[in-house]
Amino acid sequence: MTQLVLLVRNSAALRFLGRLPVRAAAAILAPMARADCPECGGTGWKTVESRGAGGAVREALLCACTRPAERDREDALYESARIPKHYRHCDFASFETDLPHEGPRADAWNRSLKEAKLQVDKFAREYPGGSERGLLLMGPCGVGKTHLAVAALAALVKRGHDGLFHDYRELLKTIQSSYNPVSQTSEMDVLDPVVKTEVLLLDDVGASKPSAWALETVGYILNSRYNDNRVTLLTTNYLDRGDPAAPVRMPSGQSLARVEDSLADRVGQRIRSRLYEMCRTIEIDASDYRREIRHAGPYRA
Ligand SMILES: [Zn+2]
Repeated sequence: MTQLVLLVRNSAALRFLGRLPVRAAAAILAPMARADCPECGGTGWKTVESRGAGGAVREALLCACTRPAERDREDALYESARIPKHYRHCDFASFETDLPHEGPRADAWNRSLKEAKLQVDKFAREYPGGSERGLLLMGPCGVGKTHLAVAALAALVKRGHDGLFHDYRELLKTIQSSYNPVSQTSEMDVLDPVVKTEVLLLDDVGASKPSAWALETVGYILNSRYNDNRVTLLTTNYLDRGDPAAPVRMPSGQSLARVEDSLADRVGQRIRSRLYEMCRTIEIDASDYRREIRHAGPYRA
């Protein structure tokens, strides 16, 4: 049974809002909310699902955008960590692990999501105390790897740590273009912050197959970070076994079995081995929830 709970903190004004029916509170809050807020859509409220004693509870939380000082501080943090706007709603509270999957593996998938969330959350809470120097989140696309990695990065930068988000493909493009003499950025200007930031999130590793030289640069970044004991969070759609995908049916009706690349196929054996040494691997085995509900629910990174 889903019930609505209002969580309102601090001031008397907010306690007053919390006693109002949701619609009335929303009407008062909406003008304070940022109209284009990606988290609440301008309503001033965002809902998260959590498991209470009595089952699933949908909680309405005041969105940070209704508190301008906090909003500005958060925006500045996300901005300086280069976290893209469409991932700014990604925190641990909004990572759902009781998804209405269908089929015989639904429970196993949700267990896998829960376990992954538990481990990444624990890593973020214990940082910098824990022994892990990295996390490698592996799994098919749409299961929420980026969501969890961003949640960890965001939690750390909010606690005052220094961190950067980089999309693997974009970073390689930047590295490759820094070769160009007319480009404004020199190679070290590009690499230095990536190598030296305290926490690096490298998203979608293996998404492109770069030149041998660019791969060597990725190896250099990872080795330097490993040697300097800096934490790297990585996500990838590629598994260690080549993933046997659904057979492709040709126009002729003939069906072709297809095997996806493994991670080592995409980044080379040397980088794969380095990742083994520096990361705890968390494999998420779940269906592509984003594809299942593409037009029916919130975007799931
Ligand atoms: Zn908002």
